[in-house]
Amino acid sequence: MSDTPGPTLFSRIVAREIPATIFAETETLIAFADIAPKAPVHILVVPKTEQYANVVELAAGDPALLAELVALADTLAAEHSDGDFRLIFNTGAGAGQTVFHVHAHVLAGDLKEGSLG
Ligand code: IMP
Repeated sequence: MSDTPGPTLFSRIVAREIPATIFAETETLIAFADIAPKAPVHILVVPKTEQYANVVELAAGDPALLAELVALADTLAAEHSDGDFRLIFNTGAGAGQTVFHVHAHVLAGDLKEGSLG
């Protein structure tokens, strides 16, 4: 997917070109249901900008936006579960990253067998 020219998959969700179940949207972030949930609650929290491919780039380039993302993850976990959650950033293809537009997996409840985001 990273090799595909043009907007990333998640930018296309931001633009409403691809349908998604959207749970929250701010000026800078969007949160929507993962299409293949690995836990009872599995929400992706995504900066609208696609300029950061992964969390390392985001932390270096815009730490305030990373902090906003974590705060939104916390809010969503409180709304959709008991408030406890896993926050996973797959970083690099070898770690399972498939969309190179930084995103956090917010997972709550029991994980499906062998799943970590
Ligand atoms: P990654 O493997 O950490 O890059 O996570 C990408 C995630 O995007 C995976 O968990 C996919 O299930 C999810 N995904 C792929 N396509 C869509 C979609 O169209 N809507 C919502 N989630 C998607």
